Amino acid sequence: MGDDLAGQAGEERPNLWATALAQFEAAADRLNISPNVRGTLRQPERELTVNFPVRLDSGAVRMFTGYRVQHNITRGPAKGGVRYDEAVTLDEMRALAMWMTWKCAVVNIPFGGANGGVTVNPRTLSPHELERMTRRYATEISLLIGPNSDIPGPDINTDAQVMAWIMDTYSMHQGYSVPAVVTGKPLVIGGSEGRNEAAAKSVMLVLQRAAHDATIPLKDASVAIQGFGAVGGNTAEYLHAHGARVVAVSDRSGGVYHADGLDIPALHRHKRETGKVVGFPGAQALGVGETLAVACDVLIPAATENQLTRANADRVQARLIVEAANGPTTPEADALLRARGVRIVPDILANAGGVAVSYFEWVQDLQSFFWDEQEIDHQLDRVLDLAYVAVQRMAHDRDVDLRTAAQMLAIQRIAESTDVRGIYP
Ligand code: NAD
Repeated sequence: MGDDLAGQAGEERPNLWATALAQFEAAADRLNISPNVRGTLRQPERELTVNFPVRLDSGAVRMFTGYRVQHNITRGPAKGGVRYDEAVTLDEMRALAMWMTWKCAVVNIPFGGANGGVTVNPRTLSPHELERMTRRYATEISLLIGPNSDIPGPDINTDAQVMAWIMDTYSMHQGYSVPAVVTGKPLVIGGSEGRNEAAAKSVMLVLQRAAHDATIPLKDASVAIQGFGAVGGNTAEYLHAHGARVVAVSDRSGGVYHADGLDIPALHRHKRETGKVVGFPGAQALGVGETLAVACDVLIPAATENQLTRANADRVQARLIVEAANGPTTPEADALLRARGVRIVPDILANAGGVAVSYFEWVQDLQSFFWDEQEIDHQLDRVLDLAYVAVQRMAHDRDVDLRTAAQMLAIQRIAESTDVRGIYP
């Protein structure tokens, strides 16, 4: 499989699984791990493809294809998002599942990595159709999911309501309520304080440390953010509140720019009213890709994968990139940016607070004992601080970039667990 994908890595927007594998090989090359461990980690442990019918409101029946991939479960149950998007493929799920394995190990929580999704544009479905599709998908993947085996959470185009439907469907099959089967649920059915904002809070906490190390004072720093959803929108809010100038923001519709900084609360109101950021009064319009190239100190890709490529990496003006999205930088862009001295804080560290708070939610559900937001914030800060320091130390000691360091730290932790458990039977 690795050989098939190696050729695609040279393309401008590589297959995401090829990117994940290339990153893994680069980190594994620098570690003294056994061929057995390397071979095990190079491929997902389990892959499920499901094809299923859903009755539409018109009475017609439409077929859908979905996936659930578990990359590795050595350190605990698999954990990972559910994505509804037209671009969902098995290879994308494999890459996201592998990154989840690394992410959980970087923040040292006892989960492995998984990911799932359905190939669909959910905006073409009515709310009832979306619910029926979700419940059927949850039933199909119930072969794998469960509170002790694989715990889905929200990702692109899925939210607390989708998680509630998955939790309810699974619970109906069991005959009793199983809140711990998903995270990112509404509070009233066992969700956690702080889960919705966790990934953005994580980006903010890691950015504060990285900006300090790069001697960029965050107060008054200029920041550009691609993506204005759960992660990008909340990150913009936190940065604005901390006195940073968020000079550019974009979503699918295009971008908006103001050199003095955008009024983020007002931009949120505008987005709620019109459904997009473009047309925000007083701001200059930007093309969809232009946000990545504006003059700024910090760039935060918070939309989707493969956004920083060989074609646009030279146009990036920021000194520091904090990856809020998963996989936003292709390997070619990564090399070009690093050669120019741009510091990149990788996704598996920057947004890992999302899965850390999911872990807190799962722990609370299993104990039926719930924490307040102060406790969540305290634990999140502690977990991210330990992870940030460990990645920095690895980067310093082994003279590698932060992405390679984060992957090395994760792979080393998983390799130790694999070795000590041995090979069954
Ligand atoms: P979302 O659907 O809430 O928001 C995505 C945003 O990106 C939207 O504003 C959309 O319009 C915009 N967008 C999409 N394509 C774009 C493009 N080409 N140019 C500009 N904007 C574009 O999704 P989200 O939950 O905020 O996730 C964003 C990223 O963060 C994804 O990579 C996701 O995997 C990652 N992530 C999410 C979480 C979480 O808890 N939600 C946790 C960790 C990582």
